[in-house]
Amino acid sequence: MLTPKLLIELKKILPEKVFTSTEVLQKHAGNLFYINNGLPDAVCYVTSEEDVIKVTNFCLHHKIPLIPYGSGTSVEGHIAATNGGICVDLSEMNQVIAFSPQDGYVIVEPGIPYNKLNEYLDPYGFHFPVEAGWGASIGGMVATNASGAGATDAGSMAKNVVGCSVIVCKDGKASKIKTGTKSPKSSAGYNLTNLFIGSEGTLGVFTQITLKVRKNFSYHNTVTCQFDDILQAVNFVVSMKGFVQFRRVELLDKLQTEACVSFSGVSYLDPNKITIIMELAGNELAVREEVKLLIEFLKNNHGINIKIFNDKKSAEFIWMMRKNACPAAIQFINKNKKAMATDISVPLSKLAECIDACYEHMERIGLKAPLVAHVGDGNFHFTILVNPDSEHDLKKALEFNKRIVEEALRRGGTCTGEHGIGLGKKAFLESEHGDSLFVMKLIKEALDPLKIFNPGKIIDVDRKLHYSHESEIKETSLSSSCMFAPSPMLRSKI
Ligand SMILES: Cc1cc2nc3c(=O)[nH]c(=O)nc-3n(C[C@H](O)[C@H](O)[C@H](O)COP(=O)(O)OP(=O)(O)OC[C@H]3O[C@@H](n4cnc5c(N)ncnc54)[C@H](O)[C@@H]3O)c2cc1C
Repeated sequence: MLTPKLLIELKKILPEKVFTSTEVLQKHAGNLFYINNGLPDAVCYVTSEEDVIKVTNFCLHHKIPLIPYGSGTSVEGHIAATNGGICVDLSEMNQVIAFSPQDGYVIVEPGIPYNKLNEYLDPYGFHFPVEAGWGASIGGMVATNASGAGATDAGSMAKNVVGCSVIVCKDGKASKIKTGTKSPKSSAGYNLTNLFIGSEGTLGVFTQITLKVRKNFSYHNTVTCQFDDILQAVNFVVSMKGFVQFRRVELLDKLQTEACVSFSGVSYLDPNKITIIMELAGNELAVREEVKLLIEFLKNNHGINIKIFNDKKSAEFIWMMRKNACPAAIQFINKNKKAMATDISVPLSKLAECIDACYEHMERIGLKAPLVAHVGDGNFHFTILVNPDSEHDLKKALEFNKRIVEEALRRGGTCTGEHGIGLGKKAFLESEHGDSLFVMKLIKEALDPLKIFNPGKIIDVDRKLHYSHESEIKETSLSSSCMFAPSPMLRSKI
């Protein structure tokens, strides 16, 4: 743990940027989601790359865990400090460094939230197409390879990050590397940018990120439609994918529709039906033609209660209703519980049968969990509400999650389409990657030999962490059993 002497040293290195109040520590340990244990010993609000280098050197020197933190919206215990350590909050590194409309890229500091980046870009007629939880930072989104509703058209972060600057460990010291170029293409060696995308803070800390940006669309239409049968709704979207270019297409099952209607007060949606929300964007004439085609298909394929919105305000209201699906579910079902989000993704041709199989497991296990689906890219989430202290709740929820991951893997899918592994999905990594898992371990060992970067997340490496206590050096196991283990600071209070 961070002893009082080490804390004084850290405060000298980063004056007025180190905080240890319970309130600050708790804010950095969790959110609406069920894995919420492991307080850091201190939080550093870094404001520059030099600060990141200083705190990384401190952590490397004393072998103290360093947990990068963007906005704290991740959902799989990514920011839990299972062995204490220092949470490095990057939210104050939130500037746009350069923007080239001509080349279509923007360079940002990692702490900028994607919605703030869009506020910056909008007056220039540009936007960044990837979304995640409201307020998520670009650094956190790169680190989790986020995607969200816009991915059906724009793809995940992996398709939209051009390069990054990362503080890594080189010969035991903090060192800055740059990956990628500003050129639209490059074949120069291993793709290090992609190595860091999805690394969840386990290989280093991003200090700058170069992103592709897109020109704003001149015309938008949002269409909502309801169905009685979920499989008909899913198959409809899947069959339309070649015919219309959805920018976003989202599905809410009956329980989630009911929760969203109750939370947002949208009056024209029937709370007892399945809802799909679709956005088409581009040239006005082309969009109008596509919408016409879409409506015809919807009417011929069991779609009811069809509404079209071409004014920005109404469309934004509907999309905000969709964005609030998770808080709506919590509020509607049990506001005293925490959420566990499943995140499987499968090939589109298998989506309907996979969702069907999931509902069968849910019924057998005796759960009631609403579903939202990024139905255009085969990815869907059940929001299971659990009391994290109830063994009964956790057992049922984890059993359900396990069963549906098996269903996804059987169909060539993944245990996580966009949220990442963190702590919560570690158990599935081997089944998903099999023989290639050792390559991930080798990469982790090579880039983080002192095991300081967000330890315990994604994979466990066999060697033990040496945790410096000034005069003595302790060994702390990073086995998966630490998933629900309290941090050293909490332990000392028990
Ligand atoms: C209501 C809700 C809805 C959501 N919807 C979506 C969705 O549609 N799509 C989606 O993909 N996700 C979604 N998420 C999950 C979440 O928003 C994403 O995982 C997001 O990318 C996390 O960003 P963050 O800034 O909050 O990261 P944090 O939670 O702060 O951190 C996430 C991970 O990134 C690492 N990290 C953060 N900053 C850096 C850095 N500078 N350098 C290195 N590592 C770093 C952290 O160590 C951690 O491992 C949702 C979450 C909520 C609560």
